[in-house]
Amino acid sequence: MDVARAKLRAARRVAVLTGAGVSAESGIPTFRGSGGLWEGFRPGELATPQAYARDPDKVWRWYAWRYRQVMAAEPNRAHYLLVELEEKKGDGFLLVTQNVDGLHARAGSRRLVELHGNITRARCESCGKRRQLPPANEFAPPPFCDSCGDRMRPDVVWFGEFLDAALLAQVEGAFGGAEAALVIGTSAVVEPAASLGRLAKSAGAYLIEINPEPTPLSPLADLSLRAKASRGLRALIQQ
Ligand code: NAD
Ligand code: ZN
Repeated sequence: MDVARAKLRAARRVAVLTGAGVSAESGIPTFRGSGGLWEGFRPGELATPQAYARDPDKVWRWYAWRYRQVMAAEPNRAHYLLVELEEKKGDGFLLVTQNVDGLHARAGSRRLVELHGNITRARCESCGKRRQLPPANEFAPPPFCDSCGDRMRPDVVWFGEFLDAALLAQVEGAFGGAEAALVIGTSAVVEPAASLGRLAKSAGAYLIEINPEPTPLSPLADLSLRAKASRGLRALIQQ
């Protein structure tokens, strides 16, 4: 633990990857834990282009429900500790999240890549224009584009869709060049989450994982903290 704290303190370039686990303490369910179901559906059956093509209203109802849930939640201690870490590291810091809940941005993270998009926005199916959803209590899906009038979809990356290539290159650059890498609250089974920690480690970074459960990344990590995100981060970065 002392080694990890010292490595993290000394590192000028730090890359962090977060997953659903970092928002669990804000009351937002993870996909692969208990409570990850909604009306008997598995996320893998709704968060796909096929599901949307088959029944867009159903998929939008699910996203509208998640949007309300996210807007009723607040960032937790872990989100704020990552803002502190960013302030300490400055330009050498990048936070990459798989989360679509926008809580990192709401906590104040700025050097942030939302790799899977953000459920508080919609994107036009025809012209690609994006916009913020109306306030949760006024929102009735689906939204329509104010430029071309066509239907909009949630501005997220679904299972089976490609990530933005430029974003991915930026993220791989950060993990490939990091002196310390943190992977927090992700089951590390979905790409590229699975490979970013590996990439950092093979390029010489000190790799720290925070997760109450073991993951495929655990055997590779220099330190695997079996803790909730907030407790693990507090132990690592607070004086
Ligand atoms: P996941 O649901 O597959 O795994 C969550 C991981 O978090 C598990 O390994 C679990 O052990 C761990 N965890 C649970 N509670 C924790 C805590 N308090 N502190 C730290 N870790 C904790 O999540 P994933 O790996 O991020 O992949 C799921 C995909 O689903 C992502 O692509 C993401 O976009 C999406 N998703 C997003 C949200 C969100 O935005 N909050 C929520 C659910 C799913
Ligand atoms: Zn449009």
